[in-house]
Amino acid sequence: MSKTPSEFEVIVTENVKSLVREKFANLKNTIKGKTNALKTHPYDASVSERLRHDLVGLRTVKIKKNFLMLISICKECREQNRQGFLNCKGCKNRSDNSVMIFTIGPHDDVYATAKKFLKRRQMPS
Ligand SMILES: [Zn+2]
Repeated sequence: MSKTPSEFEVIVTENVKSLVREKFANLKNTIKGKTNALKTHPYDASVSERLRHDLVGLRTVKIKKNFLMLISICKECREQNRQGFLNCKGCKNRSDNSVMIFTIGPHDDVYATAKKFLKRRQMPS
């Protein structure tokens, strides 16, 4: 299948794959639906929301009440001289239209994970 220019490549990290498999298997279909939306319109407000302050560069995707997915779009990793800021694995070799899914879980867990990894400047892979 050939890719249209407006299509985004969604990369699901091993971290997320195992979380879905081991902890959130009941949400698999919802997660799949959101992942498909990320392939076509990741910037849309109905799909993701941009974070600010110490989590700038990341976006949240609402899966259900109080349950989120944390993503980045590589174009935004590279804005404002922030290239490499998130240090997502293989970022340098990926196109701007790459969407990384870093983690998933209840609101508080997701933000705690993000802060921990941002401090080390290396997102979970
Ligand atoms: Zn990136």
